[in-house]
Amino acid sequence: MPELPEVETVRRGLAPVMEGQVIARAAVNRPDLRWPFPPDMVARLTGQRVLMLRRRSKYILADLGSGETLLIHLGMSGRMLISGDPLGRFVHAHPAPEKHDHVVLDMESGARITFNDPRRFGAMDLMPTATTETHPLLAKLGPEPLGNDFNAPYLAAMLRGRNTPVKSALLDQRIVAGLGNIYVCETLFRARISPRRRAGNISGKRAGALVPIVRDVLRDAITAGGSSLRDFRQADGELGYFQHSFDVYGREGEACRTQGCDGVIGRVVQSGRSSFYCPRCQR
Ligand SMILES: [Zn+2]
Repeated sequence: MPELPEVETVRRGLAPVMEGQVIARAAVNRPDLRWPFPPDMVARLTGQRVLMLRRRSKYILADLGSGETLLIHLGMSGRMLISGDPLGRFVHAHPAPEKHDHVVLDMESGARITFNDPRRFGAMDLMPTATTETHPLLAKLGPEPLGNDFNAPYLAAMLRGRNTPVKSALLDQRIVAGLGNIYVCETLFRARISPRRRAGNISGKRAGALVPIVRDVLRDAITAGGSSLRDFRQADGELGYFQHSFDVYGREGEACRTQGCDGVIGRVVQSGRSSFYCPRCQR
């Protein structure tokens, strides 16, 4: 499932072929994904210039000249394919249509953006740009982890007195938006905090120290996504999934990478999600 760094990488891949460009044709090949598409979606997209491509949490937001914003959620399996880019940054020939191509946007430039989603947990919606922040999917989201509102005093206040494990607190989208299972595991490893520790038992100082670690973990993944983006440009134009190297995620039974630690990465299930951690150096 794409997390914040993957979504940001997709946004960065789409930006050069969408921003400032006009949607010449839109094709919507089914009535819904996770939810029904908005009414008259084709008409509301056709002829619109994309003013800006933004990201909020795991959502991509395309502000249109009409004053509406197109919200795109990749869901579990959503992929974006870019073809026909006239500048040759992405694959040039349009591929044959595939079964799960649900939305196809042809830009005036000749570039085509295809949204393919076999499992259909993705979503698209249209709303007035001015009301973006009150959209039901966005209204309850906490601050962006890379933004200024996510800071040491804020996180310390949010963890204080909380009885849930710190892992669950960091996954709570009302506390911080866009963090998923993988990057919370990686953050807690770098912070040497056990995922099982109660949030309220973490000192204010340690809670505050989590903030720069969260940012570093996400920025490292975005940087890695950027390098895979360069590879994708030369390959098949597909954006959405990247191989990252993780310190703990998916490494159950392997040696801990902390210098001087002879621990073995363990796995524990919390709220139905696997937490990977080193029981030796994460306390
Ligand atoms: Zn260790």
